[in-house]
Amino acid sequence: MDFNSLVETFELMEQTSSRIALTGYLVTLLKSTPANIIDKVTYLIQGKLYPDYEGIEMGVAEKMVLRAIATSSGKDVSEIERIYQKTGDLGEATLEVMKSKSQSTLFSEPMTVERVYSTFDKVARTIGVGSQEIKLRLISSLLNDATAAEGCYIIKFVMGQLRLGIADYTVLDALAIAFTGDKINRHVLENAYNVSSDLGTVARLLATSGLEAVSSIKITLFKPIRPMLAERVRTAEEALERTGSRAAVEYKLDGERVQVHKGKDRVELFSRRLEKITSHYPDVANALKTIKSEVILEGEVVAINIETEEYLPFQELMHRRRKYGVEEAMESYPVVMNFFDVLYFDGKSKTEVSYMDRRKLLKKIVDRIQNSKLSLIKQTIATESYEIDRFMAAAIENGCEGVMIKHLPSTYRAGAREYAWMKLKREYTSDFADTLDLVIVGALYGRGRRAGKYGALLLAAYDHNTDMFRSVTKVGTGFTDVHIEQFYKELEKHIVSQRHARVDTGMEMDIWFEPKIVIEVIASEITLSPSHTAAKNTIRPGYGLALRFPKFTGKIRDDKKPEDATTIDEILAAYKRQLKAVGHSGAKVQIEEEEEHDKEG
Ligand code: AMP
Repeated sequence: MDFNSLVETFELMEQTSSRIALTGYLVTLLKSTPANIIDKVTYLIQGKLYPDYEGIEMGVAEKMVLRAIATSSGKDVSEIERIYQKTGDLGEATLEVMKSKSQSTLFSEPMTVERVYSTFDKVARTIGVGSQEIKLRLISSLLNDATAAEGCYIIKFVMGQLRLGIADYTVLDALAIAFTGDKINRHVLENAYNVSSDLGTVARLLATSGLEAVSSIKITLFKPIRPMLAERVRTAEEALERTGSRAAVEYKLDGERVQVHKGKDRVELFSRRLEKITSHYPDVANALKTIKSEVILEGEVVAINIETEEYLPFQELMHRRRKYGVEEAMESYPVVMNFFDVLYFDGKSKTEVSYMDRRKLLKKIVDRIQNSKLSLIKQTIATESYEIDRFMAAAIENGCEGVMIKHLPSTYRAGAREYAWMKLKREYTSDFADTLDLVIVGALYGRGRRAGKYGALLLAAYDHNTDMFRSVTKVGTGFTDVHIEQFYKELEKHIVSQRHARVDTGMEMDIWFEPKIVIEVIASEITLSPSHTAAKNTIRPGYGLALRFPKFTGKIRDDKKPEDATTIDEILAAYKRQLKAVGHSGAKVQIEEEEEHDKEG
């Protein structure tokens, strides 16, 4: 296929702002494209060489491209730079430079789409020492034989600046019209795309074997599936109404969604955007090798505090998104993978199976793995809204951002956002900036580096009306090794054999203390809790107040007696202030606005 026919379409496309016209040009192009290269043309028009999940990039430096243009045009780099500054686009600059270029070389090879694609492919695959020079030669070889317009688009492509605005859905429309004569068949193509994330393959199968063949595209290992998405609901009641009074409720962890593909001896992880992110989580990938079967699983990877097993906020996980220093990041920011779905198991797609049965299968798979890095997301079945609210409060207390509510008979609908999955997020966000002085009343033994010492401490506020200490949080963050030693020694003097009579809590601890030591903590906010007892039943029956994301500031308040600690009344007042600050008057569970890091919506 002549490369110039592609370039002519690019020119038309760049000049239109009408989606209908764009689709029209695309239909004409696809109809005239030989079936055996239609996949390549499909990638090229979107500025790619392969589907996104392959993660293949051109990897060329701007400087190098300037040199390639200079070599082929016989002009100075400085002159090209000057034109580039004027046009603001390297492709347009190439057009201008090459217009005045002398005739192309004598023994020029024809410019076919095949040739251009395979040269681009070589450019992308050339890596390592000296690769920029090789890339330069490859690009020059194309420019030498190209017309000015061809040169313009070659450079735009190489620089990742081919912005024709052709979305996946436009390509699907155009394919349906070009090969089935009717847009109505788009849904068949869309389904195939949703399970393969590969428009090129869909196009090629359609052009070579027809619609029937496309409809039989199945989930394949190492081709990520477009994720199923959730609608938001405002209340637990609404969720239950929509699911017919019975639903699964799962923790909604605040981490990164990961699709795991595990073959015989290969493991890949894909992000919500279907990019390969295996290298971010080598520890998880390694742990996955312990799964015997070939599977595709979905889960949320979350940063945790190893000692206390607390989930940490999303920001902590961001330290793992790096190219270098992955080993150190792995040590400093340990993570756990929490599975919530299974899409493929031992050669068969499971997307047509109900949620109920998928969860059963998932449990079996995860139960067989003996690895602390891999676990099953917490779940319960609810028939009453108060059950959802209670589960939600526990989830938030454990560092989650809310719950996911799932319709029991629903299949896995790749790429769809429907009420089969619903998200119910916590009611507010606001930074609770004050520090609190709280009394240590219990502890859990630590693990890992904190084995034999305390991992998390149970803290209480003072209830001056009844002279009691009521729990508000468990804290495990903010302690240095020195603190751990120091607390262990100090607290030993205050151990009691069971919960102290002045201590009130719904929490189970490994060890209890007489309320003596006061420490300073900060927290991100105050939430409702079914297990902490500060101000219990004041805001809502059965619930107390608790701190979210508490952290020890490093200060031991030995200037304070336990009775001088922050009081329950102060915490209650702060909670009310916090509600007011975000404009809510009650404690009804409501959703917050999309969070900034909303992993696409
Ligand atoms: P949102 O990003 O607010 O639209 O919520 C959907 C996201 O929540 C998913 O893409 C996942 O990253 C995340 N998530 C956390 N826990 C779960 C769960 N149990 N089921 C599904 N998604 C979950």
